[in-house]
Amino acid sequence: MHFEKILIAVEDSPHSFEAARAGMQFAQKVNAEIAIMCAVDIGVTISSPEVIPTPIEVINVQRAEAHNVIEKVKTLFGGAHNIHEFTPEGDPREEIIAVANEWGANIIVVGTHGRTGLTHLLMGSTAEYVVRHSKVPVLVVPLKSLG
Ligand code: AMP
Repeated sequence: MHFEKILIAVEDSPHSFEAARAGMQFAQKVNAEIAIMCAVDIGVTISSPEVIPTPIEVINVQRAEAHNVIEKVKTLFGGAHNIHEFTPEGDPREEIIAVANEWGANIIVVGTHGRTGLTHLLMGSTAEYVVRHSKVPVLVVPLKSLG
């Protein structure tokens, strides 16, 4: 099994950052190429007629936030490497899978929970979706491992 390219999916929440820390440590141990992604959830889903498109000003703020989240992870957990960055726009669950496929990740790292997560659930919807749809192994970092 190859772990040459590790994709770390992160959003702005403490749980997510701790998962990113685990992903960065793992990547550095196995000397892997790293990509960090933060999807901009623009709230437009074709399947739901009730969803209202997000105004452009809000999307611009979200884009800036996504870049900040990635910068924060790099600063906190080791930005010395040549790290790839992705800030795709869309449903984060689908975007994680799409980036993993397009970039050719060998492993995806996500937290069990994030900003939206209900902590009484074993796994939030993003992690579950990624595990179900990924073609490569997924490292799901649980809350209880974070101490
Ligand atoms: P959640 O489903 O919100 O509980 O999030 C679980 C995990 O999915 C987080 O810890 C992140 O690793 C990942 N994740 C959630 N939202 C995003 C996003 N917008 N961009 C990238 N990764 C995300």
